[in-house]
Amino acid sequence: MSETLRLPRAAHQSSPRRPLAPDTPLRDFSAQGATLALMHLLVVEDDDRLRRLLTRLLGEQRHVVDVAANGAEALELAELGSGIDVVILDIGLPDMSGLDVARAIRAKQLPVAILMLTARDTVADRVAGLDTGADDYLVKPFAFAELSARVRALGRRNQAAPHRSETVLSNGPIRLDESTRAATVAGRPVELSPREYSLLECFLRHPGQVLSRDQLLDHAWPYGAAVTPNAVDAYVHYLREKLGDEARLLTTVRGHGYRLDDE
Ligand code: CA
Repeated sequence: MSETLRLPRAAHQSSPRRPLAPDTPLRDFSAQGATLALMHLLVVEDDDRLRRLLTRLLGEQRHVVDVAANGAEALELAELGSGIDVVILDIGLPDMSGLDVARAIRAKQLPVAILMLTARDTVADRVAGLDTGADDYLVKPFAFAELSARVRALGRRNQAAPHRSETVLSNGPIRLDESTRAATVAGRPVELSPREYSLLECFLRHPGQVLSRDQLLDHAWPYGAAVTPNAVDAYVHYLREKLGDEARLLTTVRGHGYRLDDE
């Protein structure tokens, strides 16, 4: 963790008026000149170097990337119901096998696609991976372009699959369409940064529930990002500004965190 992560959302200890580098608006495709399929990915890999590299490269492709360094973290993030589209899952993890993680994800019927990473190119491993519910696999070492292509294909497949019916999250006038990543408040389109998007998504998935700063940090920031709970306060503040009148639904629960009130 000594090496600086190239994460754009690092907040620092004190929080002056605007402590965070504003992140790029999620729906600004002008640089690419084409519509990119943005997805929410979860990279599960215990190799620090590879995890950082994947996070950076996938982030540069404008995906929202969550990371986990072991199976327990991966399951926690996946279960938080964070709208993850594709889990990139290493088989060899320190606490449990990636195969067990895949099995647990399928047992809970989480609507995610799973791309298994394996160093062991044997028929038995491939069959085992696909048997546990992985949708595809990739043998290490691999070219990033290939990973990227597989992820895109899985994302498309997952969006077309019938189990992915719940693509619009809403609470009263606040709506988030996960297939287009568009947010509206009382019909008014709202442009959200990736962090604001992740925060709002987390609130919409847990209406009426108090979410602590730590829970929100875990959900909306990449693992290992140098952030403090102040960052959550700052981003909730930005999110409230974007929600306008409907910010009234986002309550501060003193000493605990925040809650999106059910409407
Ligand atoms: Ca590994």
